[in-house]
Amino acid sequence: MKRIVSIILIILVLILIYFFIPKIKLDSTEVTLNYNEKYSEGKVSARNVFKDYTKDVKVLGKVDTKKVGKYKINYVLNYGMLILKKTKTVNVVDKKNPVITLEGNTDITLCPGCKYEEEGFSATDEYDGDLTDKVIKEQLKDKIVYTVEDSSKNRVSVERKIKEEDKEAPVITLNGYENVTIYKGNVYVEEGASATDNCDGDITSLIEISGTVDNTKVGVYEITYTVKDKSGNTTSVKRKVSVIYPPSGGGNGYIYLTFDDGPSNLTLDILDILKEEGVKATFFVTGQSDSTNYIIKRAYDEGHTIALHTYSHEYSYVYSSVDNYFADLNRISNKVENIIGKKANIIRFPGGSSNTVSRNYSVGIMTRLTGEVLNKGYRYFDWNVDADDAGGAYTDSNRIYLNVVNNLSHYKANVVLMHDSYGHTATRDALRNIIQYGKRNGYKFASIDDSTPSVVHGVNN
Ligand code: ZN
Repeated sequence: MKRIVSIILIILVLILIYFFIPKIKLDSTEVTLNYNEKYSEGKVSARNVFKDYTKDVKVLGKVDTKKVGKYKINYVLNYGMLILKKTKTVNVVDKKNPVITLEGNTDITLCPGCKYEEEGFSATDEYDGDLTDKVIKEQLKDKIVYTVEDSSKNRVSVERKIKEEDKEAPVITLNGYENVTIYKGNVYVEEGASATDNCDGDITSLIEISGTVDNTKVGVYEITYTVKDKSGNTTSVKRKVSVIYPPSGGGNGYIYLTFDDGPSNLTLDILDILKEEGVKATFFVTGQSDSTNYIIKRAYDEGHTIALHTYSHEYSYVYSSVDNYFADLNRISNKVENIIGKKANIIRFPGGSSNTVSRNYSVGIMTRLTGEVLNKGYRYFDWNVDADDAGGAYTDSNRIYLNVVNNLSHYKANVVLMHDSYGHTATRDALRNIIQYGKRNGYKFASIDDSTPSVVHGVNN
């Protein structure tokens, strides 16, 4: 009996609790938000079967959505002696990945065996800010992997691809001219070439030169320069060498009077004689004072050829280097152009192309110069009749006359070497007789021009 009463009492108390103690209800007890997302209290209600106590519920606790973490919000209702409580958990999380930015190319081609030089990178995270210091670089065979993790363990990786390959062919640069012209019999000087490769650097020593020039045969020859880099990329460059014939067929029976080292006052007398005899000649001039410029002008105006013999005529200067020679030649060339209004392209080397005195200043220079002047558009002339008026016959007009006339031939173009510089009065005095001898014996006279067959010596240096 006593036991039954107890049970009934307990049931009664439970019924009371059920009807009278208000219940706090939340729409959820756990909420997850991304940081910076707005937090709003959900729905809260508190009531028993008789009454709504919602407005008496106190909300305790705060959520800082700017900070990742776990926040507790308590919903509290004081009900008589009782304190009723419900808790909501708010998780503020960071789910966004950091971002890695690579500087430079992400597809890299390197020369074989070369190390990649880092071009730079950075990492940022919206929540953590700059994470560049936390980036881990991993070098693999064909790539570099950059990885970073933020404070919420969000992890990201980016790659830079690395390929080792040399696809670029070497570059060959010829020393000297690409097209070289020499006269038959003159020596072709191989000037070589240099080669560089993007990966191997200077590979000049690997150049192979093939092809030959037969200077005894007129023709066009090819010299081929080939080089291969370590990766097998090959480059070939060609040089064209033309061996040209110094013609001697045309111009036979002509006399080409030439005067070197002028002008001087004596040139005026020579011009008078040439005018009276109706003969054209060629003057290989040197740099004189400007007071004789009018003589050059007069010679040109009277139909003679103005040709170049260097400005200084100083062997020790013009034959010490190719550069010196052309510097000196340009000087006389410019001077003549200023006087006659036209560029001269006929030249004569001091001492002739066969001179050996130049060996004292530079071995092989005549071989180089005789090639280079042709490449620059000049034609050089030596002589095949020597008056010897700068030698033993200097003061002897009769010997000069004989030296010339005894060496004339109807079977060649007669290029006669004489001088019109100061002191050559014997040359002047022999001139009219030489011309008249020529006329009597059926020779014709002409000045040297582009159509004149070349008369050149063999080169001895
Ligand atoms: Zn001379």
